[in-house]
Amino acid sequence: MPAGHTLPKPGEQLPQTLGELRSSRFAISRSIKDEMRENLIARLQRGDCIFPGIVGYDDTVVPQIVNAVLSKQNFILLGLRGQAKSRILRALTALLDENLPYIAGCEIRDDPFRPLCRRCRNLVEERGDAVTIAYLAREGRYVEKLATPDVTVADLIGDIDPIKAARGGENLASELTMHYGLLPRANRSIFAINELPDLAGKIQVALFNIMQEGDVQIKGYPVRLELDVAMVFSANPEDYTARGKIVTPLKDRIGSEIRTHYPETLEEGIAITAQEAWEKRGAAQIEIPAYVREIVEQIAFSARQDKKVDKRSGVSQRLPISTMELVISNAERRALLNGEAAPMPRISDIYAAMPGITGKLELEYEGEMRGADTVVKDLIATAVRMTFDRYFGEVDTAQIALWFNVGGIIKLDERLPAPAAWAELSTIQGLAEKLDALGLKASDAPAALVAGAEFLLEGMAAHRKLSRSEERGFTAPEKPARKQETHSLEIEYEDWERSRRTRRGGGYN
Ligand SMILES: [Zn+2]
Repeated sequence: MPAGHTLPKPGEQLPQTLGELRSSRFAISRSIKDEMRENLIARLQRGDCIFPGIVGYDDTVVPQIVNAVLSKQNFILLGLRGQAKSRILRALTALLDENLPYIAGCEIRDDPFRPLCRRCRNLVEERGDAVTIAYLAREGRYVEKLATPDVTVADLIGDIDPIKAARGGENLASELTMHYGLLPRANRSIFAINELPDLAGKIQVALFNIMQEGDVQIKGYPVRLELDVAMVFSANPEDYTARGKIVTPLKDRIGSEIRTHYPETLEEGIAITAQEAWEKRGAAQIEIPAYVREIVEQIAFSARQDKKVDKRSGVSQRLPISTMELVISNAERRALLNGEAAPMPRISDIYAAMPGITGKLELEYEGEMRGADTVVKDLIATAVRMTFDRYFGEVDTAQIALWFNVGGIIKLDERLPAPAAWAELSTIQGLAEKLDALGLKASDAPAALVAGAEFLLEGMAAHRKLSRSEERGFTAPEKPARKQETHSLEIEYEDWERSRRTRRGGGYN
């Protein structure tokens, strides 16, 4: 069965009645899991990309999802925040038909050939082939719910009018009196529950009953709902594996536990950030230097390793994404201040983007003690230093250091237009030619040269070959006075300790 068989050919009309549907090539009745499986097989046979826009999971997460779909399983993605879990789940709609026929007006989008609800069964009985058919696009077949402890059975499955239900008796015409919740409304769709462990145990049991038996009790009344739903879930791994968070029968019904992860290489991280961040703004094409991209990404990588940052909550990929957006905005702001046409992001823009970083880190006790701003500044400095080492590791910067050591001072005021800033920076002997390492030539745009020079100076400052003030003034490094200070303090302490002992000793003898 070819994928996309429900896509009308040019000039072709989709059947509008049950009779038309029955005699058309769209007369297919299959479960959503069969539909996903068959469309997936067609994609695999054609060699198509399964999940366009999902980067870095080709060899890890994607094959496991493919296996779960081929097995017609319900599955759960386990991962820390910002690992594209909801994005992957949403991408599953790519495996659905383009148009799904259902009985027009049905709240649970009944299959015209196998209606579930009483209303549609009656309708087919009364009107037969004249019953009107409607279509659902694949995007409309994804229902998502963030689990919270206050989600009720009524929210998820539905509610019934007990008086009408009682009148209906055991026969349970209660379907006619039922107010459908999210799950029945997701009939013939993908139903995703994010943060599954936050769902109350009672609701998990109801969910399991629906998945397993197709029936559930609502307000003590048994309700039969043989729904056709592809259930997928996501959770934080620690919450999911914690004892008692997920009722065992539900866990048993989840076919695969698939672990997501953060990008494994800087390049993958950069690709995701470039794809997700809002970079193309208006007409002006903003050129972002490669080293700026690397530093922004390195901040996230370093934060994920940092013991001052809480490992259990993780460091979301949204951190480099929102940082990059603020970096561009700060460059935009500077360009507007100075009446420049093309913004050029530089290192100071990364420091200006700190509000995009601090809020995305959950700090451990030690980090809390040091303060979020200090932790973030250290992370940026580390990222600058690591990136600097890649570009300038082999470059001799002694001449530049000398220029500062004999009293040179540079202040990079953001209100200085790039040509004026470069005129000032290029007075530093030996600096211009070192920018070779970034692929920059003296004839390049001043904004690019200023950005490159600032990176070089920042890297030297990160290696303590220069000092930099909060106001972005670069000077020779402070003399290693600090060490002597400690040393003299130690001597003072020892002196004090000795005299105390002597005094005390004198007193006792
Ligand atoms: Zn119906």
